[in-house]
Amino acid sequence: MSAENTVKEAAPGVEGTAEIHRRGLMLVLSSPSGAGKTTISRQLLERDENLQMSISVTTRPPRPGEVDGRDYYFITPERFHEMVENNELLEHAQVFGNYYGTPRGPVEEALSKGRDVLFDIDWQGTQQLRENARGDLVSVFVLPPSAAALEERLRSRAQDSDQVIAGRMAKAAEEISHYPEYDYVIVNHVLRKSVSQAEAILRAERARQSRLIGVSDFVARLKADL
Ligand code: 5GP
Repeated sequence: MSAENTVKEAAPGVEGTAEIHRRGLMLVLSSPSGAGKTTISRQLLERDENLQMSISVTTRPPRPGEVDGRDYYFITPERFHEMVENNELLEHAQVFGNYYGTPRGPVEEALSKGRDVLFDIDWQGTQQLRENARGDLVSVFVLPPSAAALEERLRSRAQDSDQVIAGRMAKAAEEISHYPEYDYVIVNHVLRKSVSQAEAILRAERARQSRLIGVSDFVARLKADL
């Protein structure tokens, strides 16, 4: 089932009038690991009450400091395959030898209530969302300002082994080659500016005509008074 068919209840009115409602949107941020998209995501979430994070399931083990149910739902490969079989995932992919996926239920509920959902998923997952939920999707690719900055950020996390870091650097070139599939590109040079760019994208996309519900009635009433 496409996410398009799930409008169940009235969304909050859009800015300017309570008569026009809006379906939520899916804001996807993708980038190679270490380009800073997690930090951008956190700041966006802190600053925007109508935005909520999609918490993925993964079969990879938690990193130090990661919390089950906050950063990911850490599940077994068996449970993952069961979720795929039961169509419980909106998209899923294998990344660095582990499985990742987006639980469908929370996303569809949020969109129908006019809430926006932020996704930190890779290009494979974004391709699936583009196929299944094109009208709801706003995709942003975050690029590092340089290869040196990317490596520096991967090392400063100090959570992965040298071998894992080397693997992620090698993967970065491949991931970056998918940037033309995205609607927007942000080069994450200065974090504050990147966050403000992402906010601008979100603000503009919220006003997109195709997302609005009730405009034709609003305009009809407006015309009647002219
Ligand atoms: P990490 O293991 O560093 O948290 O994530 C590795 C990669 O998996 C990142 O590029 C991240 O965007 C991607 N990822 C995380 N969750 C999902 C998901 O639910 N679906 C897909 N397709 N990719 C994901």
